[in-house]
Amino acid sequence: MNKALHKPEKAFLYEKDGKVYPEEVCIEEIIAAVNRGIKGEWGDTTPEAIILRKLHEWICRYIEEGATEDFLSDLNSDLHHVQYFNYVVPSDFYSSQGEEPHCLYVANLNIPYTHETFAAKEFSRLITYGKLNRIKRCQFPGCENIFEGPPNAKWCSKTCGSKYRVRKKRRLDSS
Ligand SMILES: [Zn+2]
Repeated sequence: MNKALHKPEKAFLYEKDGKVYPEEVCIEEIIAAVNRGIKGEWGDTTPEAIILRKLHEWICRYIEEGATEDFLSDLNSDLHHVQYFNYVVPSDFYSSQGEEPHCLYVANLNIPYTHETFAAKEFSRLITYGKLNRIKRCQFPGCENIFEGPPNAKWCSKTCGSKYRVRKKRRLDSS
C-alpha cells in the first residue's frame, strides 16, 4: 500500500557526451542572470541574451497568466522538440529508496536546440520545481527586473522603491 503512495522524486537530468548530469536549479542565480540578460550584458544577439530574454518572457507571462491551458499548450509546443533518453536505474539511485529500479528520462543535450526550445526547457524546470511561487516583476516603470519577495513586495530593490516615492512626491508637488 505504501508503495503505491510512494511519490517519485522529481529530477531533471541531461546527457552530454555519454555522461549523465543533474540539472541544477538555483533560482537566485537564474534571476540574476535573467536581469542581467534583459539589460543587455550579453549583447542583443548572442545565444545567452536570446535565451535569457525568452526566459524572462516566460516568467513574466506566468506571473500575469498563471499556468492556464493556453500557457501550458504554448510551453509544451516549444518543449516538444526536446529529445529524451530512457534510462532504468537501481532502486537506490535516489536517497529515498524504493524497491524497484526507477525509470528516468534524460534530456539529450548532444544535439543543438533552438533558443526557444532551450528557454522552454529551462523554464519547465522552474515551474515544475515550484521555484516561481515567490517571483514578481518590479513595478517601477521601465524596470523589468524579476525578483523573489513576499506577496506585497512591489520593487526589485530599494533603489526602485525610492525612485518611485520621489516620482510620486514630485507628481503631488506639481499638482
Ligand atoms: Zn526595479
